[in-house]
Amino acid sequence: MSKPPVTKNDTVSVTFNDVTHDGAGVAKINGYPLFVKNGLPGEEAEVKVVLTKKNYGFGRIIKLTKESPSRVEPPCPIFSRCGGCQLQHISYTGQLELKQKQVRDVLERIGGISDVPVYETIGMDDPWRYRNKSQVPFGEQNRQIVAGFYAERSHEIVDMEECLIQHEDSDKAVRLVKELCETYGIRAYDDKSHKGTLRHVVIRHARETDELMIVLITKDKALPNKKNLVNALVEAFPNVKSVVHNVNPKRTNVIFGDTFTTLWGENEITDYIGDVKFAISARSFYQVNPVQTKVLYDKALEYANLTGKETVIDAYCGIGTISLFLAQQAKQVYGVEIVPEAIEDAKRNAKLNHIENADFFVGEAEKVMPWWQAQGIQPDVIVVDPPRKGCEESLLDTMVTMKPERIIYVSCNPATLARDVKHLVANGYELKQVQPVDMFPHTGHVECVALVKLK
Ligand code: SAH
Repeated sequence: MSKPPVTKNDTVSVTFNDVTHDGAGVAKINGYPLFVKNGLPGEEAEVKVVLTKKNYGFGRIIKLTKESPSRVEPPCPIFSRCGGCQLQHISYTGQLELKQKQVRDVLERIGGISDVPVYETIGMDDPWRYRNKSQVPFGEQNRQIVAGFYAERSHEIVDMEECLIQHEDSDKAVRLVKELCETYGIRAYDDKSHKGTLRHVVIRHARETDELMIVLITKDKALPNKKNLVNALVEAFPNVKSVVHNVNPKRTNVIFGDTFTTLWGENEITDYIGDVKFAISARSFYQVNPVQTKVLYDKALEYANLTGKETVIDAYCGIGTISLFLAQQAKQVYGVEIVPEAIEDAKRNAKLNHIENADFFVGEAEKVMPWWQAQGIQPDVIVVDPPRKGCEESLLDTMVTMKPERIIYVSCNPATLARDVKHLVANGYELKQVQPVDMFPHTGHVECVALVKLK
């Protein structure tokens, strides 16, 4: 491409024709894309150019001259500063349409697939207060305790009173801990000087049982006024089942250190997704939107079309959430996952539910699956639910040689879904349908489940 058509500090009139997953409007100037926070498709604006690169640039809205009918007033007062949500300025219907379009566009652009149904995104009836886990950093600004999420691309805490996508108990716990810190003179941790005490508060809430877990993470072993803190928390929350202390002495972004001590109550809380029961400890991986997890996994189950005779592989099985769902309707399920603690949880959850036809293995799916194949395991259905980077090509190749009738691909990143499906389609498979499910309302995350069948 030749020189960008605009330079820094230019003011231009633009029309937005797209929006990225993180909520930036996209306007094209003679084909040169300009990314502008807060612009929506169909809107027109005066924009100041703030940065130009060879193939794209960034701008800032000076004046919106035509508004989209999808634009709404963000309900959260700190939406423009907090990096937690990206799409609160778009109506919920608008968000669902946007996510459907993103899946459709990327399948076409990266996968070269345009003739497959991508259904309307399944949203939530009530898309607020849906998260069951909050991990809130504590800090100090002008010697006042602050707690909230980081600003976009930054380590600066945006102090909050409440977070509209978290459970109310999370807000209440964060406010109470802030007060208790002030009362007892407990300092918040400062990541620049590596000084201070309280680093994070993690709150987990089990939606079906209403059980609550509160975890206090400190830099040093000592938690000053421990008894008073615990008493105050237990008194404030009749539903609290577990108060845990974690020590993380390291200079790191990772929230938890290695030592967990239960200060009050149990080590775990219990929740259900459908009929399946899960024991959740402070560090357990567990889906953060249980309502939509059920919707997503029901769809995966529907696509798997099980009759009770099938052998199923769940690659990237985590704590076995999908595996245990599938096991209720299959002959045998094999789950594989790289994190040993997750496999321990999966085995425990299988026992808890008296599920005996699910076996779990620790390892890389791309290594364990060829080994299974060598043992003569022949899956009728393979479910994959990989991280954002998608599947290893070697894993796709192993799947192809295992020749399952159906591959159910659960994806949190439509771009890698498109890339991987393209590979499967080139090797004897056919993409049948794709169902986006909104797991994270008001954020840019797009989740979907795809049915891929042997031709
Ligand atoms: N389906 C699971 C979660 C899937 S998230 C559930 O609902 O609980 C993706 C999982 O893949 C993570 O748990 C991650 O640890 C695991 N993972 C990442 N790379 C892997 C690999 N190469 N082989 C197996 N598992 C892997």
